Amino acid sequence: MRGSIRAMTLPGTHVIVVGAGIVGAAVAWSLTRAGARVTVLERAAAAATGATGRSAAGLRHQFSAPQNVRFSAYGARRYARFEAEVGVDAGFRRVGYAFVVPDAAVEGWRRQAATVRAHGGRVDLLAPQEAAVRWPWLDLSGVGLVSYGPDDGVLDPHAVTLGWLGAARAGGAVVRFEAEVTDLAPSAVGWRVHTAHGAPLTGDVVVNAAGPQAGRVAALAGASVPVVPSRRSVYVTTAVSGLTLPTPLTVDVASGVWLRSEGERVIFGRSNPAEPPGENERVDWDWLEPTLELALPRFPFLARAELDRRACWAGHYEVTPDHLPLIGWDPALPGLLHAAGFSGHGVQHAPATGAAVTALVAGEPSPFDLTPFAPGRFAAGLRASGDGEVAIV
Ligand SMILES: Cc1cc2nc3c(=O)[nH]c(=O)nc-3n(C[C@H](O)[C@H](O)[C@H](O)COP(=O)(O)OP(=O)(O)OC[C@H]3O[C@@H](n4cnc5c(N)ncnc54)[C@H](O)[C@@H]3O)c2cc1C
Repeated sequence: MRGSIRAMTLPGTHVIVVGAGIVGAAVAWSLTRAGARVTVLERAAAAATGATGRSAAGLRHQFSAPQNVRFSAYGARRYARFEAEVGVDAGFRRVGYAFVVPDAAVEGWRRQAATVRAHGGRVDLLAPQEAAVRWPWLDLSGVGLVSYGPDDGVLDPHAVTLGWLGAARAGGAVVRFEAEVTDLAPSAVGWRVHTAHGAPLTGDVVVNAAGPQAGRVAALAGASVPVVPSRRSVYVTTAVSGLTLPTPLTVDVASGVWLRSEGERVIFGRSNPAEPPGENERVDWDWLEPTLELALPRFPFLARAELDRRACWAGHYEVTPDHLPLIGWDPALPGLLHAAGFSGHGVQHAPATGAAVTALVAGEPSPFDLTPFAPGRFAAGLRASGDGEVAIV
């Protein structure tokens, strides 16, 4: 296959993983367990300090793209037995996701429910009257239905990342912090990887798991990967009374405002499609008022909630043009594998990504059809995935 390396048995194969977020950790653990020699290089002083530590930590089966549904279904199964596999509680709680769908969008969400069910997810389409009984704090004016995923939920991305990295280390993996990758050069056996400190390393395979920086890391090797950082601010209230706790992760489809409970607090946000890509990590305070204005009609309880400004945070989605990830060999550079561009879904899709990357490196059939996620799909001018993902928050 063009761009791939020879099929290799894993023992003796040295894989260098760039990035110690949840995806790099999943890949490192899965490869170590399969017998590879793994080195993780992370520019920060600790794991899970990038997008992973700033996420809303949700897992949903409700996607429009079939492969996203399958990745989530696999992730849910793996997170449910994480403690047995890795020895750490992943904190996975099935609090559900509730998409509040306006009358005008009902048909599309009915079609999506059929896709979700066909690919391993459960979804209940609730009439507004039923949703009002379950979540009396929602204002359901103008709502056609609520698309509810009973197996959707939230987890603890820090615990998962640290759990995977700890288990990988116990299996012989090396994890180096403050080791920013500064250059990637092909070598006789694979790749020579230069870091900000110390001698260069040589690996058979490099896995680009650099999250929002994946485009920049790819460029070090001369590869072009259309992943850009896109800021998301998360606003946090103090304790709110009168809610049924825990709330599902609830998305008002018409406005794009999402929220969920975190203990007795509420966290909420809304993407700003007009903001150009960039690495600004400050909370966007100018976005708060317009977000609240749209949120209040649907979530009137927010009018009596108090904001905890110091608890609010911002992070970056790692966005691709079709909102689907890139998982696979670089089409032009043998031995370079991308696992990036999750477009806001990397926490839930990390377990499947670890399994898929391991199969690719081993030269075995992938447990998933990775065609929709092929890194070469943009260069080839195709969208192998069809329409891309449209259920975006
Ligand atoms: C506000 C917000 C809400 C989100 N909500 C959800 C959600 O509910 N569910 C969900 O599934 N996903 C969610 N996401 C997306 C999710 O956080 C990401 O998809 C996921 O964390 C990506 O993991 P990663 O390991 O690829 O990236 P990261 O966690 O960013 O890890 C990449 C690592 O690479 C390191 N790195 C970068 N460049 C270099 C270099 N040159 N050398 C060495 N190391 C380098 C970085 O320091 C970083 O630690 C959300 C994201 C945000 C910002």
